[in-house]
Amino acid sequence: MPRAEPTPAPQDFDRVLSSMCTEPHPAAREAAVAFLADNPGDPATYPAVADLETEAIDALGEVVGLDDPHGYVGSGGTEANIQAVRAARNLADGDVNVVAPESAHFSFQKAADVLGVELLLAPTDDDHRADVDAVADLADDDTALVAGVAGTTEYGRVDPIPALADVAADVDARLHVDAAWGGFVLPFTDHDWSFADAPVDTMTIDPHKMGQAPIPAGGFLARDAETLDALAIDTPYLESDTQPTLGGTRSGAGVAGTHAALDALWPEGYRDQYERSQANADYLAAELREHGYDVVDPVLPLVAADLPDAEFEALREDGWRISRTATGELRVVCMPHVTREMLDDFLASLSGVGNV
Ligand SMILES: *Cc1c(COP(=O)(O)O)cnc(C)c1O
Repeated sequence: MPRAEPTPAPQDFDRVLSSMCTEPHPAAREAAVAFLADNPGDPATYPAVADLETEAIDALGEVVGLDDPHGYVGSGGTEANIQAVRAARNLADGDVNVVAPESAHFSFQKAADVLGVELLLAPTDDDHRADVDAVADLADDDTALVAGVAGTTEYGRVDPIPALADVAADVDARLHVDAAWGGFVLPFTDHDWSFADAPVDTMTIDPHKMGQAPIPAGGFLARDAETLDALAIDTPYLESDTQPTLGGTRSGAGVAGTHAALDALWPEGYRDQYERSQANADYLAAELREHGYDVVDPVLPLVAADLPDAEFEALREDGWRISRTATGELRVVCMPHVTREMLDDFLASLSGVGNV
């Protein structure tokens, strides 16, 4: 097939401030390429990548405070959230609902739509965290799952997970924690978010975000084997008997990349990264505040600030990849590829278009 244009180059990360993904760790990139043709969805044919997945899940268990983790590496946080809702629905009787804060990722809307469950969204408090009383007001006998977020997409907030666990217990529901983005930084903070901090049943944690694994690599983890049993489907043409995953053929690159990233970075590499990213977020927040912008305090490495539309658009035209919250604030995610120099460049661009 003749090509008129040169092959497009992949995105350069020099001006990417909007993404929750990042450049993979070199070892993860190498492992991903090596296992590109392996299918962890067929472990009897591809035992090597299946072994890597078992080890990767054990390592993820360490990250989230779980000794004997059950789970798998899937396509991302969306799949893991769908699976958490699906397990809760399958383990409950009759029509069920899910209660989550309004700050929950839009993947819960997809889960509700695909699975035919009702999604009840509770307001957040003044600090953008789940309002526990509001969650308790919505939870009832039909509630199969209460979900909390540990590292929200828009403001990097951590919901009060132990209090949400109490709400879930009161109505005999399961508790899911969505740590898709936050899971690789929270171990180095004082937040209560993990399986060790509360009676969490399931968790989403994405290696392809702060974990520095290649896309696609999402993590779905469960405390009990019963959760995966509730998801298992018979698999007639494979040598393995059942499959709890949503996907059939899965990414060997994602599994091997996750394994390699954890091997290279857990725990010290992730700790260093967290400290660097948080320091960058604090720096950007302070600079923006000094120049008169309203800034939402970066609890985790994510800064939100009020920026006039014209300045936002001008920065986009300068090539900055930036995004907005639902209420229109600038949102900068201090991922591993975001350096102090990048932020200084960004602030210089902002002074060219605005009042810095
Ligand atoms: C990114 C994100 C998701 C969705 O994950 P994908 O990998 O994009 O499917 C879910 N929840 C939270 C909190 C996220 O940040």
